[in-house]
Amino acid sequence: MTADFRHFYQKDWAERTAIVTQAAQLTSVETALFKQYYVPKHHDIIENYLTDYPLPMGLAVNFIINDQPYIVPMVTEEPSVIAAASNGAKIVKRGGGFQTTATKREMIGQIVLEQLTDPTATAALIEEQAARLLTVADKAHPSLKQRGGGARQLRVRQLGQGYLSVDLYVDVQAAMGANMLNTMLEAVAKAIGVLTKTNPLMSILSNYATASLVTAKCELPVALLQAGRYDGQLVAQKIAAASAVAQLDVYRATTHNKGIMNGIDAVAIATGNDWRAIESGAHAYAARDGQYRGLSTWTTDGTTLTGQLTLPMPVGVVGGSIKINELAQLNHKLLGNPTAPELAQVIAAVGLAQNLAALRALVTTGIQQGHMHLQLKSLALAAGATPAELPVILQQLEQATHQDLVTTQQLIAKLRQTKDEN
Ligand code: NDP
Repeated sequence: MTADFRHFYQKDWAERTAIVTQAAQLTSVETALFKQYYVPKHHDIIENYLTDYPLPMGLAVNFIINDQPYIVPMVTEEPSVIAAASNGAKIVKRGGGFQTTATKREMIGQIVLEQLTDPTATAALIEEQAARLLTVADKAHPSLKQRGGGARQLRVRQLGQGYLSVDLYVDVQAAMGANMLNTMLEAVAKAIGVLTKTNPLMSILSNYATASLVTAKCELPVALLQAGRYDGQLVAQKIAAASAVAQLDVYRATTHNKGIMNGIDAVAIATGNDWRAIESGAHAYAARDGQYRGLSTWTTDGTTLTGQLTLPMPVGVVGGSIKINELAQLNHKLLGNPTAPELAQVIAAVGLAQNLAALRALVTTGIQQGHMHLQLKSLALAAGATPAELPVILQQLEQATHQDLVTTQQLIAKLRQTKDEN
């Protein structure tokens, strides 16, 4: 029988899970998972809600940012991420910590006009009315202005082929601001439609948040980078070379940046922020001069290694899912209830720490040594090892010729058999 998903969104939770159970022929154990992770108040956050999807949450330590100590909650399923962030932060702590700065925080939204026969004249008309249009924007979300934020400027860009983008810059205060900005944009779009006698194509926030940039820096005596048989000066030179390659080659740059985003996304998720917005903005920024490049740079003069990371960081400490998610609120508390600019700076520092740890490992022992211990843990758990069995299985796996699922399952079976025999 085929299941009926019509009006699925109108069904209550029991009906939904019953339909899915039937459609996918789930076992009672599988269906029980819906109940196990069900959070009643999440029912109305997304359409067609079934259950929550748990991800591991942990704490990165050793962070000193602008002379303040931080513990940083991170949500990630990748085994090595928190270890690497803590490790990178530990090295930087010995060198005095991270220094971070943020530009003024404004979000940019676009109203796009199309099929303009004279875009220059239309642009001039809109620019003439900029002050009035800013007032229209503020009136659409008055509480923002009352909080000291609001619409700041309006810029018109000709995109070619009869298209024009009216960019609205808004100080969104403590929020990420997407929804607030979209409300304001739709009001301004209406006014622009009347003014220009056109029907705007669309109005929406831009995730290219170039008016919300954040920078994290660190300066490390090269001796701190010593790793095994590699002396610190050599490691610093190799890190600088790796950074240079990420500026030259898109294949390397993509992975360089993925490592940075490992840390950034994990904190963004832990603090209830829109990590897709951060991701898209970061990658666009990485390609700002036409070539996709590494977001961070590392240089050395032989004595000091200097790292710097700048990227858009559109995060909020209110709004979105933050107020609904108790763990997000808890994580803000763990971070010392930062303001939005402070949170943005912490996140950038985590990205730079993550990057340092990855590059240092890559140019010395390789990342597999550190990774594999943690990956083996995941492998053992996936193969069904209990926490009590983990130490023995990990030890055996490290010496095994093949570190794969079948081998791990065999090792677990053998361990249990030995236990039964005893
Ligand atoms: P909200 O819609 O939740 O708006 C922010 C809320 O925070 C408002 O209710 C505002 O209250 C309240 N608030 C309380 N104190 C402050 C303060 N000091 N400063 C600012 N606001 C305050 O969220 P956002 O507008 O921030 O939008 C973020 C959400 O939008 C995220 O969930 C994101 O995923 C989503 N989104 C993202 C898009 C994207 O392209 N990235 C597109 C569309 C949505 P009041 O109403 O009284 O002002």
